[in-house]
Amino acid sequence: MFENQSCLSRAQQSIIDLDKWQQTVDLIAELFDSACGTIVQLRQNEFNVVVASKNEDNFLSRNDSWSWDLNSFCRNIVETKQGMNVQEAKLDSYWKLTAPVVEGKIRSYCGLPIFWPCGELFGTICIIDTKETKHSSALLKVLEQFCRLITADLKMLRDCQEIRDLALTDELTGLNNRRGLSFLGEQRIKDARRARQTVGLVYLDIDNLKQINDKQGHQVGDQCIITLANVLKENGRESDIIARIGGDEFIIMTSFNDESIHDVQLEALCSRILECYNLAASEYDVGEITSISYGYQTFDYERTTVLEDMIAQADRLMYRNKNSKR
Ligand code: GH3
Ligand code: MG
Repeated sequence: MFENQSCLSRAQQSIIDLDKWQQTVDLIAELFDSACGTIVQLRQNEFNVVVASKNEDNFLSRNDSWSWDLNSFCRNIVETKQGMNVQEAKLDSYWKLTAPVVEGKIRSYCGLPIFWPCGELFGTICIIDTKETKHSSALLKVLEQFCRLITADLKMLRDCQEIRDLALTDELTGLNNRRGLSFLGEQRIKDARRARQTVGLVYLDIDNLKQINDKQGHQVGDQCIITLANVLKENGRESDIIARIGGDEFIIMTSFNDESIHDVQLEALCSRILECYNLAASEYDVGEITSISYGYQTFDYERTTVLEDMIAQADRLMYRNKNSKR
């Protein structure tokens, strides 16, 4: 019934203190004298155990998962968006026929839904037992209070993610900014080394943007920047890291799995970008003045170095391209 799956992402776990969640479920298992205290997350078509109490008789452990299709108690909470307290499943005309009771050894269940701040359902906090139970109303209030604390953690997680996104995103284009590129790019280099992939780095700079600002106004200059950003988004792959790292300077960082000729692929990508940008620029009458210059470099997994050096190499090639036009 259970498979191994990880729950909250690594980045999310670095913000949320999962040890605190662990202590919470250990405590509720003790307070409720129960076989299992747990926090479960709903992910796509599965329920995943984020934390489970560490008592010996617990039949669940962290990272266990089960399908949505199973008629589980947690699914009922998700469907009704309400808490549920089944004291003796074998006396309940519905639950006594379900798999967790017939095939598993579950006899009682008490759980509450946990919501993200936006109102979307995160999962459940629950006490599951192999015996009949009758929890006092004071204990049920304790469970409600723990549920509120977990909800507060989820709000903090969302706030942190929003702040981080703001810090890593360029406001004008919605692309990564320089910090965003560093954050994602360093990780991409490590991943490429591990997966023996080649990394490709393209450096692009708009030609004569100062002149456009001076002659046509800053708004038209901004439009050139936004246009190039959109062209990069349209022509890049979903897995590419695209960034605006300065006024009119952009980077695409990509990685290749196959044995194909990477330089040819990057040249084709840059030609497409150039063509799309020039076409857009001509549509608002700056096609005569502006274009883009680019340089690219590939690094097979043994040649990758720190991101800044890779950027510097592609930058030099971009300048060579720009100077060749003068
Ligand atoms: P080159 O052809 O050599 O690339 O020269 P350039 O005129 O494009 O100028 P350069 O790349 O050396 O410097 C970028 C210029 O882009 C500086 C500034 O005037 C302009 N710029 C920087 N950020 C923005 C922005 O957010 N909006 C607008 N409209 N212009 C910007
Ligand atoms: Mg420029």
